[in-house]
Parts: sequence; C-alpha cells; structure tokens
Amino acid sequence: MTIQKINPYLPCPCGSGRKYKFCCYVNRQEVNNEDSLSLIKKSATYPVDKCLVSDSWKERGLATLFIIRQLPNSKFIVGVYLVDLLCLGVKDTFCHANVPYTVIEDKIVRSHVHLVPIDYEDARSMILGGIEFARQYHFDPHPDWKDSQPIVEPERPFVHKYKFGMNGKPMFIPGPHDDMATITSKLR
Ligand SMILES: [Zn+2]
Repeated sequence: MTIQKINPYLPCPCGSGRKYKFCCYVNRQEVNNEDSLSLIKKSATYPVDKCLVSDSWKERGLATLFIIRQLPNSKFIVGVYLVDLLCLGVKDTFCHANVPYTVIEDKIVRSHVHLVPIDYEDARSMILGGIEFARQYHFDPHPDWKDSQPIVEPERPFVHKYKFGMNGKPMFIPGPHDDMATITSKLR
C-alpha cells in the first residue's frame, strides 16, 4: 500500500467538493500526531478493513482473531485477541495504532496460525461471547483487554452466534502460561 501525493489545492479524493488541504489532509495530520491509545479509544469512528480468525478454532476451541481498522492517514489500528471458547474467554490480547500494513503482516506471520477472513460481527460475537461465558465462572479477560476493547465496540449489543464450553459447561485445557491452581479452584 502506498501513500500517493495529492495536490493540496485540487478537490479532495473523498468527494466532499472541498480542496484536499482543507479536508482530509487535516484529518491525516491530526491522526499522525495523536497517540495510539487515544486513537484506539475512537476505534468505532474508523472503518473495519478486515477481520481474520485462525481456521483451527472449531477443533481446538481456541481462536486467534485479528481486527484491522483503516485510519485516514493510510495506516491502521490492529487488535489481536486469543479467545479460549471452552473456558477462559480472552486469554491474551494486544493492540497497536498508526502502524503500516507491513507491521500487521509481520504479526500475522509470527502468530504461526493459518488465518481466514471472518465477518466483523461474527468476530465480535466470538470475543464478547467468550468473555460473557467466562465471567459466569469468575474468569476476567486478560488485563490488556482494557486497552484493546474499543476496537470491538464492547458496549454495542452482539449476536449470540457461538456456543461456549462443552455442553454448556466450562472445560479447561491447560496452556503453558495458565495458573492451574487458581483456575481449578474457580471451577470448583
Ligand atoms: Zn476529504
């Protein structure tokens, strides 16, 4: 993806009829100068570019999701969520703003999972539904959820599309970083 030079005195490509310099150019400058977390807080105002999910989520009960939003300066916001659909909900998450697409591609490669496109509302349904299920058993999402949650608009209702747990009950499959003692005591 390249940032093309636009003559500031020609009509803006967004079709507003105003000159570029007095239209989207301003947005672009504002976004360039804004810090990541405040851009992420305003995520809902930036369009979703694409959403991806690891294709093995059904068999494994564990999904890696990428939510990518386009900023007006040709850069992106990305939120990554590791969702345990069987028990713990959002086990891990991180987010970045004002990154070029190459940085996202690099993170996709490093995730070592095969990702396929998923509808944005379905991705919300998986992430927010997973958190809701886990909270019934007093499992809170990963602490960094407080930063990455605006990307999935948690306050807006979501469709309950997926089933969590095994036959409606949590099933814990320990991962390398899980605190076994705390988790089993909560499940009892
Ligand atoms: Zn414009």
